[in-house]
Amino acid sequence: MSFSLSRCSRFESIKKVSKRALATILVPQCACCRQAHQSPERLCAACLSSLRANVCPGSMRLSNDPVVSRSNFGRYRIANTQKIAGVTHLQSAFFYRDVVPDLLIRWKYDGMVELTDLLASWVTDYCQLSHSYDLVTIIPCHWRRRFNRGFDHVWLLANTLAKTGLIEPPIRTLKHSKPLPFLHLQAASDRHIDPNHFRTVHPVKGKRVLVIDDVVTSGATLKAAAAALQQAGAEEVNALTVATAREPLLPASRTWI
Ligand SMILES: [Zn+2]
Repeated sequence: MSFSLSRCSRFESIKKVSKRALATILVPQCACCRQAHQSPERLCAACLSSLRANVCPGSMRLSNDPVVSRSNFGRYRIANTQKIAGVTHLQSAFFYRDVVPDLLIRWKYDGMVELTDLLASWVTDYCQLSHSYDLVTIIPCHWRRRFNRGFDHVWLLANTLAKTGLIEPPIRTLKHSKPLPFLHLQAASDRHIDPNHFRTVHPVKGKRVLVIDDVVTSGATLKAAAAALQQAGAEEVNALTVATAREPLLPASRTWI
């Protein structure tokens, strides 16, 4: 019974991908808000503008220090929750707000895998990718979720980023011990993952590891991943995400861009 349900779900997923691809080819439609538009870009002008307004400042990408500075914005303090245990550097291209969550939902849940190239180009533009990492890996989908969805969006992203030549091709290194709950449906304070949730299936001893994921919210997933990698002997764990919900505390009147 569960197998037939999985097959049905997988068929629905493939159908969704095909339908979305066909619709966007036939009608110039914004990949995010789905409004018809004339722009040659995949996103309409309004969504592009919202996206650009949510680019994460460079100063947040390279340090876990609670106080960072950026000349254009003065000094501001990052909430202590910005720190993720075990993660040396976290960099993200966007803040997880306004149009960004919608875009990631289209990519991840609506089967718009064609957004991968677009997201990879933004991550390349707004983050600092380098060969200084010995090993690149991802927070993987649990195999059951990947089977039902038909793809692992973060794996696609990591491979697309590797094609730029700026980072090494990813290696599947982390395995889930069980499916993760849908954390985005939980309050941040309730998001907890067993520190033994992940296990490693590839040697990481003495390596500087870069872990790629779509979005960091509470940091619980990255924290558990870092724990597994460090337990296996990784020298350093860094993280790269498309978006971050971990924002600094700013004066209310301050505008970002
Ligand atoms: Zn739009």
